[in-house]
Amino acid sequence: MSQSENTPTTPSFADLTTIRIGGPIATFVEPTSEDDVIGIVREADASRIPLCVIGGGSNMLVSDDPFDGTVLRDARRGVTVSTAEATPSTAGAPASAVEVTAEAGANWDDFVAGCVASGFEGVEGLSGIPGTVGASVVQNIGAYGQEVATSVARVRVWDRELGRIAELGHDDLCFGYRSSSLKTTMYATNPDGGRTTTRWFPTPRYIVLSVTYRLVRSTQGTVGVGQLAKALGVDLGTRMDLAAIREAVLRIRAAKDMLEDLSRYANPWMSSSKDVGADLRNAQPNHNRWSCGSFFINPVVDSDHAAQYLDGAPQYPGALPDGSQGVKTSAAWLIDHAGFHRGFALDGSHASLSTVHTLALTNRGGASFGEVLGLAQTIVQGVWKTYRIRLVPEPVVVR
Ligand SMILES: Cc1cc2nc3c(=O)[nH]c(=O)nc-3n(C[C@H](O)[C@H](O)[C@H](O)COP(=O)(O)OP(=O)(O)OC[C@H]3O[C@@H](n4cnc5c(N)ncnc54)[C@H](O)[C@@H]3O)c2cc1C
Repeated sequence: MSQSENTPTTPSFADLTTIRIGGPIATFVEPTSEDDVIGIVREADASRIPLCVIGGGSNMLVSDDPFDGTVLRDARRGVTVSTAEATPSTAGAPASAVEVTAEAGANWDDFVAGCVASGFEGVEGLSGIPGTVGASVVQNIGAYGQEVATSVARVRVWDRELGRIAELGHDDLCFGYRSSSLKTTMYATNPDGGRTTTRWFPTPRYIVLSVTYRLVRSTQGTVGVGQLAKALGVDLGTRMDLAAIREAVLRIRAAKDMLEDLSRYANPWMSSSKDVGADLRNAQPNHNRWSCGSFFINPVVDSDHAAQYLDGAPQYPGALPDGSQGVKTSAAWLIDHAGFHRGFALDGSHASLSTVHTLALTNRGGASFGEVLGLAQTIVQGVWKTYRIRLVPEPVVVR
């Protein structure tokens, strides 16, 4: 058999995801025009073929079984800038709003780097988050005092239900903590209160085609969270150069291995999706970064529960599912205090907690879907036993 006969013609999810797990894919397409994106989605939906729109694969844990459907990765990465009406600068200096529209396939961190370099304030705290512009609005990415919800003006989508293009404004998106009206179309609530998936899963009813962000023309941003202020040696709320904020965020993330492992772009299925350039030559595989980022969402409980079970745990105001005021706590704290420390692994498993971050479940090389799920389930059970809190996974888990 020749070399080319050995080479698969489609990637596996292990090739496309940051945790590098997942089975072979029947059909993989990378459309280069909006019409083609829509055409492929339409065809799959009309033929009832399972469809998965994937971005950077940084928030997905997929079964090792074959995926007998279509995986679409939007190859469009264009970014355009247009001015919007004047707005007062947060620093009090004259400034103006700027609208930046990015196509769904644009790499998120390349987009942030471009905004910082152009002097556009609003997304610098979200530096270093892996993935794409399209997915940024699905789960309302957030970190270091910022959420994408703050800067999203509108999203152009393909509505799979109604079969038409629509524009969703900020209010239509119903952003919440790691949530949006796009994400919620993938899930429904069981009668027992558990979560089940809808017919759209593992991709929302609305396919993101492009996102328009409203940013502020300013070379400075606000240091919005204590950890960042400490790293920069300034007070919370200080105005600083965007580039300094971005560098500090990247440094903090690197120390926790909460950046993606650039060695993934050596894979031919990944190399076209980001311009890694010279960085790739120095990129050594780092298994702490073979993850989906934080595996569990920080839970919100009612105040009675917090009083009974959360003595000593971090506590912040948070919204309960019914919108009422609750107490948000740290999933990492719960996991650690339930006895699962950094590096924890089940006997013989190739999956473990990161050695530098309690919330990251990692593939140490050759881990199976079942091994990661087994680790996740052990942690969920342990935290439930100790704190009567059921941790909810943040990534999209495709069984
Ligand atoms: C090391 C690491 C650190 C991370 N840190 C953070 C963090 O600090 N904060 C944070 O919020 N997240 C974080 N994440 C999670 C992840 O980076 C984000 O959720 C990101 O937005 C996922 O983007 P993606 O393109 O990789 O999405 P994917 O994983 O490819 O997809 C995720 C979901 O979005 C859907 N989707 C993708 N593209 C589209 C589209 N065009 N239209 C409709 N649906 C689409 C998919 O179908 C799927 O349901 C981290 C992940 C890693 C690996």
